[in-house]
Amino acid sequence: IQQVSFSPQPSLLKPMALSYAQILELLQGQDDEWLFSRAQLATELEFQQQVYLRGIVEFSNHCRNHCHYCGLRSENRQVKRYRLSNEEILSAVNNIATLGLGTVVLQSGDDFSYSCKRISTLISEIKQRHDLAITLSLGDRKHHELENWREAGADRYLLKMETFDRALFARCRPKAHFDERIARLAHLKSLGFQTGSGIIIDLPGMTDAILARDIQYLTELQLDMLACGPFIAHAQTPFATSPNGSALKSHRVSAILRLMNPGANIPATSSLDALEKGTREQALKRGCNVIMPSFTPTQVSGDYSIYPGKNQQQHPAAERLNHVCQLIQNHGLIPSFNRGDSKRVQYVS
Ligand code: SAM
Ligand code: SF4
Repeated sequence: IQQVSFSPQPSLLKPMALSYAQILELLQGQDDEWLFSRAQLATELEFQQQVYLRGIVEFSNHCRNHCHYCGLRSENRQVKRYRLSNEEILSAVNNIATLGLGTVVLQSGDDFSYSCKRISTLISEIKQRHDLAITLSLGDRKHHELENWREAGADRYLLKMETFDRALFARCRPKAHFDERIARLAHLKSLGFQTGSGIIIDLPGMTDAILARDIQYLTELQLDMLACGPFIAHAQTPFATSPNGSALKSHRVSAILRLMNPGANIPATSSLDALEKGTREQALKRGCNVIMPSFTPTQVSGDYSIYPGKNQQQHPAAERLNHVCQLIQNHGLIPSFNRGDSKRVQYVS
């Protein structure tokens, strides 16, 4: 086993070993005070109160998939679809760099009309023009494409399992391949990507028992990014009438994950903000250390309608960034423009 460290600063804290039974109890709120105070302490010790900012560009809302929870699913004919040109993407990335952020996240539906070569060219151009870390979140792309993008300079890849429960996965993501998605995560790690995954909390059919196992799986995978936000029902999906997830449960998940994965980057997701104002920033006191403001051009950002309430703000990017920084400071935390690499030491075989 070869050891590859991404960051000059390894994680300071030892991961806490929580059993399945302990995770279950904490998920059910048996000791929120202990959980949240320990998670806050661990986050502050690891990141010295810094909150890493990432600029996200959601460059296409076309998708070939049918995920039952997502407003961008291909069967939804009511979405106004858009695709950004290379120039539009690079202009949004330029905004991110000009405002001094250290990371750009490129995200889209599973839109294969952006060829492997086109994405590689974009990555190379971004790397030539700016000193930015690049995170990709482009869904289930082929192994050789991931390899190509890593060679072109992409640093990180986020691919959420949504749940590690095979039966629930099949009910939520018809025609998607559970084993292939897990294999893709292992492949991403072997290519040296800082690799992220995550779950949707309170997906219809998810029980606390499933959630506790999901937390164990996520931890066993030794990931660099752990992205977990609550389910929000979208009217134009098969899950339209299912109840929304709970912000409190989502906070418990981030807090448990922080204790078990002290050096990982854990975003406070925008789905928290869409569900209940203030809960995204509250999550920064409960294990999260990353916020990802959108830099998608405002002409189309409202059409990236994964769930209701997403990308509602129509102010210019600089104003939105200022607002996020203000919210972070109001919580006694420091907005950080650093690259903010994971502090995890990753093992590749
Ligand atoms: N298409 C890529 C994929 O699925 O991996 C990336 C883009 S996808 C829109 C990004 C994430 O949105 C998904 O991983 C999922 O967790 C989240 N998402 C989609 N619909 C959601 C919903 N209704 N509630 C909460 N999160 C949702
Ligand atoms: Fe497509 Fe991703 Fe939405 Fe699934 S979650 S429908 S893959 S954009």
